Amino acid sequence: MSLRPAILNPLFAPAASLPGVGPKMAGLLDRLLGEAERPARVLDLLFHLPHGGIARDLKGSIAEAPIGETLTLKVRVSEHRPGLQRGKAPYRVLVEDDSGDVLLVFFNMPRDRIQKLLPIGSERYVSGKLELWDGYRQMVHPDRILDERSIRELPAVEAVYGLTEGVSSRVLGKFVAAALERVPALPEWQDPAWLARNGFPAFAEALGRLHRPADAAETDPEASAASPPRRRLAYDELLASQLALALVRSRMRRQPGRSNVGDGRLVAKLTDTLAFALTGAQERALADIRRDMASDKRMLRLLQGDVGSGKTAVALLAMASAIEAGRQAAIMAPTEILARQHFERIEPMVRKAGLRAALLTGRDKGQERRRVLLALAEGSINIVVGTHALFQEEVEFRDLGLAVVDEQHRFGVHQRLALGAKGAAVDMLVMTATPIPRTLALTYFGDMDVSVLDEKPAGRKPIATRLVSAERMDEVIAAVGRAIAAGDRVYWVCPLVAESEVVDLAAAEDRYAELRGIFGDAVGLMHGRLGGREKDTAMARFAAGETKVLVSTTVIEVGVDVPEATVMVIEHAERFGLAQLHQLRGRIGRGERPSTCLLLYKGPLGPTAKARLEMMRETDDGFRIAEADLNLRGEGEVLGTRQSGLPGFRLARLELDGDLLTAARDDARLAVERDPRLASERGQALRVLLYLFERDAAVRLIGAG
Ligand code: ADP
Ligand code: MG
Repeated sequence: MSLRPAILNPLFAPAASLPGVGPKMAGLLDRLLGEAERPARVLDLLFHLPHGGIARDLKGSIAEAPIGETLTLKVRVSEHRPGLQRGKAPYRVLVEDDSGDVLLVFFNMPRDRIQKLLPIGSERYVSGKLELWDGYRQMVHPDRILDERSIRELPAVEAVYGLTEGVSSRVLGKFVAAALERVPALPEWQDPAWLARNGFPAFAEALGRLHRPADAAETDPEASAASPPRRRLAYDELLASQLALALVRSRMRRQPGRSNVGDGRLVAKLTDTLAFALTGAQERALADIRRDMASDKRMLRLLQGDVGSGKTAVALLAMASAIEAGRQAAIMAPTEILARQHFERIEPMVRKAGLRAALLTGRDKGQERRRVLLALAEGSINIVVGTHALFQEEVEFRDLGLAVVDEQHRFGVHQRLALGAKGAAVDMLVMTATPIPRTLALTYFGDMDVSVLDEKPAGRKPIATRLVSAERMDEVIAAVGRAIAAGDRVYWVCPLVAESEVVDLAAAEDRYAELRGIFGDAVGLMHGRLGGREKDTAMARFAAGETKVLVSTTVIEVGVDVPEATVMVIEHAERFGLAQLHQLRGRIGRGERPSTCLLLYKGPLGPTAKARLEMMRETDDGFRIAEADLNLRGEGEVLGTRQSGLPGFRLARLELDGDLLTAARDDARLAVERDPRLASERGQALRVLLYLFERDAAVRLIGAG
């Protein structure tokens, strides 16, 4: 049941409902703009902003037209040069004006079509990117070829959109125009004085101006960074997210917490079963956590610690504290593999202490699942380890005291809320291995209290990182052979080729076959397409040393812990985000022996790619890497949201709009303070905003109204 205001319905209607969108086109749009389980909607089209524009105004003569730019020229068709009938050679058409000539180049285009579009002697307007090739000006596949009459019907600037196979920018533009027609008049949720001060247009107008730019310069990514319509929408989105956080916070404040500590005996007992002494940083974090848990306010604490800093032990002891207080604890991990790994590590210790732990993931079905659910509801299970399955509706606790969320950034705010809502006054501990720069922490966590594990467990050997050209594959394979012979284990991560799992998989399978040809049964394979149990088996065999080389796509990225692994090979390292490389590298260097990370790249590297890889070689300080990543690539990479496909920001770019973030936070807080139920006129408008940006899980906290 959705409480979404009816006024927004036209925007949430499927894109297929727009005029001219047939079933085939609908499928293409779904692929371009939809998500796994929902089709593309009108809104998705509107939020798919153009990334450039083609000016219809003419750039003077051919001789003066700037090379490298997308522009329109007025030309005369002077000569056709067909390629060989059967060959791969392109079909070329020479066009000219009084100042010079340009070759239009067509690959795989029916020649009768070309001849019809460009009859010899005719005058045409051609739009496209002007390039210099072998000393000649050329334009490959012009975006548009028009005659005098049709060019007059075009807008002065045509928006250019990111494309997918089968949907051209022009076609997309047509649907966007239809989508713009459907934008309703929405109540203004922004403060009028703020709007005026920034010169922000109204929401609908902002969308219109971005999709129908008045001049091409406006659509240039750099110029549009500062353009009021884009900034307006960015602010809307930031405001929605900050408002959601402010509502969570205010609700947490309104609800009293409970003391979730007991006499300390259980904590002491579990501390004894750990194979190591806690680091000073772990002790400090635990002291923070116990203080929060003891107080009658709800804990909302973020535990930040680089990979390998030992967050799991901290979580375990915090959970012990909740159990001492007579309550239950839950820990949620983002993947099945991680949940299982946590369970396998935690369960024996918990059992030794006379308690019961259970695992609950989406994979558990039927009888066993019902047994766990029942035991949770009656309280005979003290600790449950699980995945997203934990916040489904059927899951009930007798009395949940503490919820721990691991690798937090992979979950959205609403998922965090859902787990927190499983009990009367649940203390929340969220953990992240991604060192998050301050601005980002603000967006994703509002202002939680923060503890940092800034000290790694003693005895760790540093990891040597080397950059190796992919041409030296033989040497890399030889090094892997030596590592295996010495009893070590090796991760071999295959490249992200095309952000397509199918393609990635093919690469991993090829490499697997090749390495298997060399090292035989010692090589295992792991990827996202394997079923859950197969993944477990692959992981377990590697952990047990039955396989010594694990070829994998990036599914091993987060959290996996095999101390014997000392070599990490990453192919096409230049294609990964820095944070992701850091995470991957964090899988090694966990044991007593020195480790090596080989970053394979395919040259030549551009300056940015080079700087990034060198950064990896220079430092293993996650914070430095994260800051650099933010500067070089943008926030989606830092948080890994792009890879994991979670909704991040669609319009706001934190590297451009960071200044708006603080304003949005203050704005949101004040709004909630003045009007906690969002009942006033502005409050109602803000509700619309929350739904518009799909931050509406927060609305449930304050009820309909
Ligand atoms: P992360 O913070 O990345 O989740 P883990 O909790 O997986 O790190 O811990 C990484 C490894 O370090 C594990 O093998 C764990 O048993 C070990 N470990 C944790 N704390 C300590 C410590 N204080 N001394 C030695 N080893 C530790
Ligand atoms: Mg971990």
